[in-house]
Amino acid sequence: MSPSKKKKVADAVDRQWTARVGSALLERLAEGAAVGSPREPLIVEVPFTGETLGSVPLGTPDDVVVAVGVARAAQKDWAATPVGERAAILLRFHDLVIANAHEILDLIQLEGGKSRRNAFEEVLDAAITARYYAHVSAGLLRPKLRQGALPLLTTTWEYRRPKGVAAVISPWNYPFMLSIGDAIAALVAGNAVVIKPDSQTPFSVLWAAQLFAEAGLPKGVLQIVPGSGAVLGPALIDNADYLMFTGSTATGRLIAQQAAGRLIDYSMELGGKNPAIVLDDAPLGRRAAGTTLGISTVDGIAFSITSGSGQVCVSCERLYVQSGIYDTFVPALAEALKTLPIGPSLGWDVDVGSLSSAAQLEKVSAHVNDAVAKGAKVLAGGKPRPDLGPYFFEPTLLEGVTEEMDLCRAETFGPVCAVYRFDDVDEAIARVNDTEYGLNASVWSKNVGRAKQIAARIEAGTVGINDAYQATWASASPMGGFKQSGVGRRHGAPGLLRFTEAQTVAVERVVPISRLPFLDNERYAQVMSLAIKALRYIPGIK
Ligand code: NAD
Repeated sequence: MSPSKKKKVADAVDRQWTARVGSALLERLAEGAAVGSPREPLIVEVPFTGETLGSVPLGTPDDVVVAVGVARAAQKDWAATPVGERAAILLRFHDLVIANAHEILDLIQLEGGKSRRNAFEEVLDAAITARYYAHVSAGLLRPKLRQGALPLLTTTWEYRRPKGVAAVISPWNYPFMLSIGDAIAALVAGNAVVIKPDSQTPFSVLWAAQLFAEAGLPKGVLQIVPGSGAVLGPALIDNADYLMFTGSTATGRLIAQQAAGRLIDYSMELGGKNPAIVLDDAPLGRRAAGTTLGISTVDGIAFSITSGSGQVCVSCERLYVQSGIYDTFVPALAEALKTLPIGPSLGWDVDVGSLSSAAQLEKVSAHVNDAVAKGAKVLAGGKPRPDLGPYFFEPTLLEGVTEEMDLCRAETFGPVCAVYRFDDVDEAIARVNDTEYGLNASVWSKNVGRAKQIAARIEAGTVGINDAYQATWASASPMGGFKQSGVGRRHGAPGLLRFTEAQTVAVERVVPISRLPFLDNERYAQVMSLAIKALRYIPGIK
């Protein structure tokens, strides 16, 4: 980037940041960031420019122990608070997020480097999640009368008890929604929560904690300890009662082993190498047909590759296009990728932002360079864009990717996609499923019935039809991964119930069912056999 442009961006960042959020907020957040002080500063960078955004105190394992202790003490009263009151706090948080969205949009962009459009996905997700769980939590958590062991003789209830203190370890790519989104479900279920955000992005979640305090969440119930995962992770796992982890599959495996040592339950949302299948009858839409209405596979796939600069767990990195449409669709997609607005901006004018760090730029560049050196053809992009900022990388489409190239199977986590031609749908499905991952996929076709049949054969936790990921992600249906892409589910009923223990309480009435009066063991067995046989035919008994 030229010195004059760099200064312009820095000035813009500074001006907008100061005007909309204010440095005072940063200082307040930093004060509450870690328990105790002073601590080493954790410096947070602005990926748009490489400059420093601010710092928060770097948490230590002792901070984690104290934070879990404070959370545990606060959790008792919180769990005793009626669900309706807990839900009301969620709705107030929802309203505050919408009302103050400009602040969190700035923060997400400044610490993560993504475009405002992509940052807005996080605002939507947090609001939708808060609204949904505010409305369904009472029903999900209500004690349920269950069928007893023997009708009339027993009454059985299923209760949902909070786990206690839930730990949330979150990544940098969607720092707001992947931390507070899970915390929302845990909190409304009656848990206290300790969040360890990624070191690159502590501010978004600190902002969320401040809003939750304004919404009326009692002190202590939500704790944030920023710092290194390798340093703080073991202390969290040693002290918390449940763990929600979002991050790489490699870290997930490590954490699962540690959690096994204490037999604490966990859910994990991990990596992906997400495919899209474009069938011959895919709705090409705007760019190809010159209309602005309807589904555009070109636009949808371009979004799927470039959203969050490809640093989205559900991004498309493998594209399978049927022969009949390949020669029309692929050039149109390449053109779309070349012309998407890209650059550092806190406005709504660009679609593609920056990669988040030097490490990301290095990894994405290495994948692309390796593929090109081994014979892949670049159809769009392929290069870093230092003229825009230190970590920008062009939306990239590659053809001719083969097994010996790193990006063939490994997650790139950048705006880079390999496109493959296919003739036969069975062959495409086999290639789609030939991966250790199984997070997200999409199928593009005008024939929704056929696309649904294909979805049923895809090994992935979410499958969008004529949609990259937003329709599945933002729904009230569970979200998570098959195979190495995760354990458990966020969102929907399972997303809340995972933060609870089921407790069954049964009342024995009239006589003990383990030994009926006046019957010896043999007669007891005979009478019970008859009773069980009869129950098989009584309507309503399951
Ligand atoms: P990462 O695993 O390196 O880090 C994620 C979090 O774990 C960070 O907070 C980090 O500090 C912490 N951490 C790192 N090592 C740890 C350890 N030993 N113990 C405890 N915590 C530790 O992941 P990343 O590279 O920062 O994030 C990108 C990855 O996350 C990608 O693979 C992406 O696919 C995945 N991801 C998945 C989802 C999903 O919903 N499935 C969403 C976003 C990101």
